[in-house]
Amino acid sequence: MFMKKLLSLLMVFIMLFAFTPFGLPVFSQGKSVILGDINNDGKINSADYLIAKRIFLGSYNATEAQLVAADVNIDGKVNSADYLMIKRHFLGTYTIKDPNAGFLKTNYHGHTYRCNHAGTSTDEQYIQAAIANGYDLMGFTDHVMLPWIEYYHSVRGKYSESHEYLESIRSLQEQYADQIYILLGYECEWNELFEGYYRHLLDNNLVDYLIMGNHYLEFDTITNRFDYFNGSMESIEFVKAYTESSIQGMESGLFSIFAHPDYVLYYAKMWNATVEDYMRQMCIKAKELGVALEYNHGYAYAKFWDVVKEVGNTVVIGLDAHDPSVYSSSKRSQSIAFLNSKGIPFVEDLGITKKQPKVVTQTYEVTVTNGTGTGTYKIFENVEIRAEVGEGQIFEHWLINGVKSDKPAAFNFVVEGDTTIVAVFEEDTEIGYSYAFDYVPSKGDNVYGSLTWNFSKESYGLETGSSSSRGVAFRVFQEPSKAVVIKTTVTRYQISKIIVEAAMGSGNDTTISISVGGTNIISDYAVTNHNTAYAFDVSNLNGEIIITLKATVTDKASYIKSIQLIP
Ligand SMILES: [Zn+2]
Ligand SMILES: [Zn+2]
Repeated sequence: MFMKKLLSLLMVFIMLFAFTPFGLPVFSQGKSVILGDINNDGKINSADYLIAKRIFLGSYNATEAQLVAADVNIDGKVNSADYLMIKRHFLGTYTIKDPNAGFLKTNYHGHTYRCNHAGTSTDEQYIQAAIANGYDLMGFTDHVMLPWIEYYHSVRGKYSESHEYLESIRSLQEQYADQIYILLGYECEWNELFEGYYRHLLDNNLVDYLIMGNHYLEFDTITNRFDYFNGSMESIEFVKAYTESSIQGMESGLFSIFAHPDYVLYYAKMWNATVEDYMRQMCIKAKELGVALEYNHGYAYAKFWDVVKEVGNTVVIGLDAHDPSVYSSSKRSQSIAFLNSKGIPFVEDLGITKKQPKVVTQTYEVTVTNGTGTGTYKIFENVEIRAEVGEGQIFEHWLINGVKSDKPAAFNFVVEGDTTIVAVFEEDTEIGYSYAFDYVPSKGDNVYGSLTWNFSKESYGLETGSSSSRGVAFRVFQEPSKAVVIKTTVTRYQISKIIVEAAMGSGNDTTISISVGGTNIISDYAVTNHNTAYAFDVSNLNGEIIITLKATVTDKASYIKSIQLIP
């Protein structure tokens, strides 16, 4: 009965406050008991949990106010659970907070110098500014430092700086606990690629909460670079892409607040029925999923907030502090004035609480074949993987857990599980190319001349050497069916055309045959002209190429002058 009355009194205060542009009611006067302080001496200590124990053992005659103070989990009864909560509060392993009291003046959105565009103020200077301006809750939500980003970025710190950020805010949370309630979080772009990392942060209590700020819609996984939007930002396509991404982000369940949801309109600079419909879809989704919308005075697009009012979203004011002075600026009062002018209620307390971070011990094995980087790593560690290219090889691609990847020969890999990484090489054709004459002269045969291969990426040429302008030639006196066979193996490029320059000796019957990879392409093609280049399309075949020049006559030489293999 007493709690009911107290609650409705608090509700009145909250409603009053929500619509009061300036001047804050002193809220603590609404509380007549402090949860846990059963003997009402202003302290929560061993005397209180001993009384709680006696209450539920029935050996203490408590007043109604004492019963309220002892029921710290507000379940209508005083039992061992309450006793333990009071004891743990006293021991420092738990914080009793009256969930109905709420915070009165809050900011859930703030940055630090680490993001590279927020000056050089220290974390403590932000906290002191918030305290000095009467805030009872402040959140640090620096731009998320992502495992994929280990280079200078004007919007966020490097991943290697994130550990220090988390530690700094965690220790300041404790240091200032009696002056202000500090929350630790990140402002995050939604992208499926990052989802595992965001979940890891929340699951292990490394942060208390995440807010979604969709500054970028696209991330290039080859270069690990953000791309704002692949198209004009003053376009309906941009509005659509932003809407779809933001709805997906909210559906992930990761985010407590959608920061500056109207950010898109700040850039798209347009409003029409289609835009309004997209904005309505976002607001309805936010309401459905319990994601608060942040009113951020720097980005506010008035027509968007008419839709927010119509949908009836939970709204918080965000300072998006990039400097401690924002806490004393008019940003908050201007925000309140705007929301009041639209008749949009807002809340101060979203019920987000400080968490006890878990020690993350999860490690994974990364095995790199043909490269460096093998080792045991912590989850989400950023590892440099580098291919070791041997002589006569060129790097072709990576296989990451058997899947072909477009990553270059050296890249930063984010460890999310046991992984096998294999560098795949190809023969460097400039030295891996071979050919041979498969011809054994016998009695009466005459082979002369020499050939050398010329290699280039465009074609492979077998040309006459300097000792003879006629190429490889042969004469057959006794055995008319003797042939010169030239074999070569092409491994780098698929061949689409073979050009053979050949000649017949006068009166000879000379033919060219070509097979590639065991398949006959050309059979006994008659060489009828002197010094003619014959071009044969071989439709992209790959493999051992055998070119046969066969002459069936007597005393004149037939010869191959050159061969070109065209990729
Ligand atoms: Zn920023
Ligand atoms: Zn921000």
